Amino acid sequence: MKEITSKFPHGEGRSCVITRRACFSASHLYKLPELSDDDNSALFGPCSIAPGHGHNYELIVTMEGELNQYGMVLNLSEVKQAIKNEITSQLDFRFLNETWPEFDLSKTEGCLPTTESLVRVIWERLKSHLPLKSLRLYENPKLWADYQGNAMDAYLTVQTHFSAAHRLAREDLPQNENEKIFGKCARPNGHGHNYIIDITVTGKINPRTGMLCDLSALNSLINDLVVEPFDHTFLNKDIPYFANCVPTAENIALHISDKLTNPIKAIGANLYKIKLQESPNNAAEVYAQVPESQTDAKDSKNQISFIR
Ligand SMILES: [Zn+2]
Ligand SMILES: [Zn+2]
Repeated sequence: MKEITSKFPHGEGRSCVITRRACFSASHLYKLPELSDDDNSALFGPCSIAPGHGHNYELIVTMEGELNQYGMVLNLSEVKQAIKNEITSQLDFRFLNETWPEFDLSKTEGCLPTTESLVRVIWERLKSHLPLKSLRLYENPKLWADYQGNAMDAYLTVQTHFSAAHRLAREDLPQNENEKIFGKCARPNGHGHNYIIDITVTGKINPRTGMLCDLSALNSLINDLVVEPFDHTFLNKDIPYFANCVPTAENIALHISDKLTNPIKAIGANLYKIKLQESPNNAAEVYAQVPESQTDAKDSKNQISFIR
């Protein structure tokens, strides 16, 4: 057997990251028994309307390990079975508030089943079955939470969009020079994009409300500070910041990051990352803030990664 292994190593012993996707549909209700109807409504908005509402959740399980003698980190059918047994068969078509004891609000340690608290509890239930590296849970394609097993620390991402025109050119350079640098993007009358922005915030999940921050407050900030002022504008002319700063995807992402950092702090979270997609082929990411726990990612502070 040893001989066969050395002759056909099949990657045995090499490290690899694998992912598995699983879906489930479930409902929930954001209503704390210790609060009045008015207070629940003020805190959770329409999410507090009984009997609740539902989502088609999508769970991405990322695992890491060494390849076995068959060239696999894990047997995928066992991964599939573990996720089904521990998670989806227990949550699919259920009312989350009444599934797991972690969400039993009649107990003081009970927590609302928000996306970020749900992904944390899923981690706790899966961690002894699978070599987890990270989990992502989509509540819908425009809202998801990431969790990496760090106590109550989680990430929440909101995706939104705006449409705007821009022209890539430096005013201090002649047109022929700008065309050499920026190509067609330097044409005098500009062109437009349907920009997609992912705003990722990080913070601690509240053990009772299950929330990392007030989502409607976060959405209002994004809308008031980014979407409303930028949507249907010519960035170079309508946004004063870009009068003297070339509105590349990188600069737009940085500007959005600078605009959102302090207001997000004021609602109790930290801006982690802005990803700005200009087109399906072109995106820029700016890391605004790196949490203490992510020491290995410290070098990425204020760095931009640009995908062409
Ligand atoms: Zn919901
Ligand atoms: Zn462009």
